[in-house]
Amino acid sequence: MSQNYWSPLVKTLVPYTPGEQPKVANLIKLNTNENPYPPSPLALQAMQQAVGEGLRLYPDPDASGLKQAIADYYGVERQQVFVGNGSDEVLAHAFMAFFKQNEPILFPDISYSFYKVYAGLYEVGYKTVPLNEQFQIAVEDYQQPNGGIIFPNPNAPTGCLLPLAAIEQILQANPNRVVIVDEAYIDFGGQTAIRLVHQYPQLLVVQTLSKSRSLAGLRIGLAVGQAHLIDALERVKNSFNSYPMDKVAIAGGVAAFEDTVYFQQTCQAIINNRTWLTTQLEQLGFDVLPSAANFVFARHPQQDAAQLALKLREQAIIVRHFKLPRIEQFLRITVGKAEDNQSLVTALQAIC
Ligand code: PMP
Repeated sequence: MSQNYWSPLVKTLVPYTPGEQPKVANLIKLNTNENPYPPSPLALQAMQQAVGEGLRLYPDPDASGLKQAIADYYGVERQQVFVGNGSDEVLAHAFMAFFKQNEPILFPDISYSFYKVYAGLYEVGYKTVPLNEQFQIAVEDYQQPNGGIIFPNPNAPTGCLLPLAAIEQILQANPNRVVIVDEAYIDFGGQTAIRLVHQYPQLLVVQTLSKSRSLAGLRIGLAVGQAHLIDALERVKNSFNSYPMDKVAIAGGVAAFEDTVYFQQTCQAIINNRTWLTTQLEQLGFDVLPSAANFVFARHPQQDAAQLALKLREQAIIVRHFKLPRIEQFLRITVGKAEDNQSLVTALQAIC
């Protein structure tokens, strides 16, 4: 009955279902691709210092200190950087700013499931492009006379990486349409497309501090592109929430970008752990897709993935299973600390 009060649009929405965030302790949590290592000690220190009397005042609506830190890190101008409350919010603003109702956008059929949700929210049509036999993005199929293009690189939940040359191929085939590269996982072995933004006015690169900078709880996302794209995002932001980021987050974000040593060490540790985990899973008979992310996507030819996930859960290990066509036999497993990965492998040895 109460749905009578809903707008027609809200009645059509199919919201995103986030991965489980269990309330019980002592679980080995390998289900939502968080970083197993703590945030940079310098970032923690900066945030502690930001907590105080100054919270009485509004933050800088432009978050210019954070934008400058990001601009310095990537060698771009501050006017080329946008920040928001997690990359989910940045992506939402980008859908609103660049995609239109009557020009369907393209994204891979196996991809980040939030894209469909934003398409629904902003009434943007879309077409999905199947991944190829190897579960890779089929670059040649991304040719758009009209709407824009969005894809994660590395893709999620597969972990597969497109090299920059392939991204350039997509950009060259689509000179007049906004192409968004969602680089949530790029720091675990890929090369960022940010280095291409000066050449391609239609390219917007989106990143997050949730994964490689261990700050999922802080909610910071960013976009880099030419200033005309960033201006559009600022217009949307200022029509929505002109203070998307609090002072504590700004302080933590700046320090996280400055502490390059800790960042490189933790990324390298995850890459090493991923190599170990991949080898162990393969020895157990799993097919593991080549991953450039902080997770692996793996299937066992003789085991039902949903059952495997349940059995692991009984042993207090949570991984992600998607009940979706083509990938329902896969598990997505976040790369944890060495001891977590060992516990997972021991549990799988017993099960398989
Ligand atoms: N893009 C992709 C591909 C992701 O997997 C995620 C994490 N779920 C996000 C964006 C959003 O990350 P956040 O909002 O934490 O920045």
